[in-house]
Amino acid sequence: MPSFVTHLACPRCGRRHDPRVPQNLCSCGSPLLVEYDLEAVGADVTKEAVAARPPDMWRYRELLPVGDPADAVSLGEGCTPLLRPSELGARIGIPGLRVKDDGLNPTGTFKARGASCGISMARALGIEEVALPSAGNAGAAWACYGAAAGITVHVAMPRDAPAIAKLECGLYGAELTLVDGLISDAGRLIAEGIAEHGWFDASTLKEPYRIEGKKTLGLEIAEQLGWRSPNAVVYPAGGGVGLIGIWRAFAQLSALGWIQGRPPRLVVTQAEGCAPLVKAFAEGKDVSEYWEGATTIAAGLRVPHALGDFLVLRAIRETGGTAVAVSDDAIREAFSLLGREAGISAAPEGAATLAAAIALRERGELGADDEVVLVNTGSALKYPELL
Ligand SMILES: *Cc1c(COP(=O)(O)O)cnc(C)c1O
Ligand SMILES: [Zn+2]
Repeated sequence: MPSFVTHLACPRCGRRHDPRVPQNLCSCGSPLLVEYDLEAVGADVTKEAVAARPPDMWRYRELLPVGDPADAVSLGEGCTPLLRPSELGARIGIPGLRVKDDGLNPTGTFKARGASCGISMARALGIEEVALPSAGNAGAAWACYGAAAGITVHVAMPRDAPAIAKLECGLYGAELTLVDGLISDAGRLIAEGIAEHGWFDASTLKEPYRIEGKKTLGLEIAEQLGWRSPNAVVYPAGGGVGLIGIWRAFAQLSALGWIQGRPPRLVVTQAEGCAPLVKAFAEGKDVSEYWEGATTIAAGLRVPHALGDFLVLRAIRETGGTAVAVSDDAIREAFSLLGREAGISAAPEGAATLAAAIALRERGELGADDEVVLVNTGSALKYPELL
């Protein structure tokens, strides 16, 4: 079974790249996006057929890059619940509040989606060793899926990354190096290893396929609402990959005619201690600047510079969304509110979306009639320090 991928496209310079060989960035330095023959997809499969398939993210296989199903490395990722915490929604003045609970994935975060797709494509392309820097959770997820696929995974993380994520790398047999610094410093170390050993560079957005896995978040939100868009999706952005994925999901579903009407307003939240995308959005800029001295309890949001910043900013503006920074205190409060009022085990990153929704509701930027989906990207169980 061939995939429906036509090519990899550069969203900056427009150059096309061959999807049949391993690819990293475009020669202009931009991440690459996977393009599909959506007409052929629409002729081959219906949304009803998709809905009848087993409950994991591979039900959307025509919109994923893996051609041979035997290459798909799956541990049951995706098809997480879209919860409706009505008491909590009423309390914050958004009765239509929903929470996409992606903490229920393998390894306890939505990073499983990206790792499942990325490792599957590494296997399809004959890659045997991959390397990536991580703030914590991506390293754990890639280690996990690498173990399932028999692919060696090299991870570099900040020494002060969450303890569980570091321990998981050991569980899954990855080679973990700890660095004194941030994910950007870990990235420099990984680049040296790649130059020396020829590992495949699986850094966020330097490999084109993890975004496709994260795209399934958006596909699921639409399907779970009965094939339609909510008014807004609030997403906690580090590199912003998941947000770019959700943006593309709704665009592809519209092109297929599987959903009608406006796509959701895409809302980015970051922590006040590391908010380069929020700052760039507020200043009307097309790209972000490196954030000095990044600090927050939400480790996944401690990304001082995102390679796909221009795509995140484009997604926000194109959908009439916004970007908002929240304090670590507000994140702590939202974290316990989700637990106490809704029985939801949220990662601090996921809790940041509730803090953002509360702030935006108070400012009138979200209305009482809006249907708002918060993306809880991980489980509280990954953060015993915070618990
Ligand atoms: C990685 C991570 C994020 C940020 O994801 P991006 O796609 O890089 O923006 C948010 N929450 C959690 C729990 C994460 O692990
Ligand atoms: Zn380019």
